[in-house]
Amino acid sequence: MSPNPLVITLKSLKLFGMAQAVEELATQGSPAYLQAEAFLGNLLKAEVAEREVRSVNYQMKIARFPAYRDLSGFDFAQSVVNEALVRQLHRGEFMGNAHNIVLIGGPGTGKTHLATAIGVQAIMHAHRRARFFSTVDLVNSLEQEKLAGKQGQIAHRLVHTDLVILDELGYLPFSHIGGALLFHLISKLYEKTSLIITTNLSFAEWASIFGDSKMTTALLDRLTHHCHIIETGNESYRFKNSSTQREREGKTRIATIS
Ligand code: ADP
Ligand code: MG
Repeated sequence: MSPNPLVITLKSLKLFGMAQAVEELATQGSPAYLQAEAFLGNLLKAEVAEREVRSVNYQMKIARFPAYRDLSGFDFAQSVVNEALVRQLHRGEFMGNAHNIVLIGGPGTGKTHLATAIGVQAIMHAHRRARFFSTVDLVNSLEQEKLAGKQGQIAHRLVHTDLVILDELGYLPFSHIGGALLFHLISKLYEKTSLIITTNLSFAEWASIFGDSKMTTALLDRLTHHCHIIETGNESYRFKNSSTQREREGKTRIATIS
């Protein structure tokens, strides 16, 4: 006998008592059950839909994106990124294999925008778990956790997340211990949780922020093993758009060094 879809839904909602009762009524072929079947089916659909909305809202909240961003708000004509690659990664399959993404480019070139858009899509459409961190804040939390004698708690939580975004690696250097703690965290996430890192530094420059070339080499080895690289260039979108705006308004003044 093929499994009863109502029973499957009830079990997925953890309503095991009801699932058992429905199963019994269905096998007895009770007329009351046949009458109730469509009605119950509709109620369960409503419950499943409502739980999905609640879960997505909750995940969006705890992901802590700095602002909502999506791809429809990203003007590819104003960016040097590989659009096909961005759209492919946006579909989220990279998380299935715990692949990583590194967004490299100058300030204002859309790194945080694209990382957020991929994270938002992961939660809203793929129903994944994502967490967004400023890298410096995360390193501070790792240091505090160690000081409090609770080392490993953050890593434990993040291993059960599908996607971790580390924003702005390289804007500020870490302490030696901070760099080592981040290295340990990334090692623990390796091949379990996908990482998106945004940075203004080329890989060759990473040793300067970790302050240890051996550790940096080991970290890059893990990180880049399964990694997609998106280069966003060096032309700031904000700057470009504020100057074109000024030009339109006819107020452009080229600063001259006198
Ligand atoms: P980065 O993280 O590289 O410093 P951001 O992603 O913060 O840059 O981008 C700076 C601002 O410009 C953000 O408000 C972002 O939404 C916007 N922006 C950047 N690139 C684009 C683009 N190609 N289309 C639309 N908005 C963009
Ligand atoms: Mg940014």
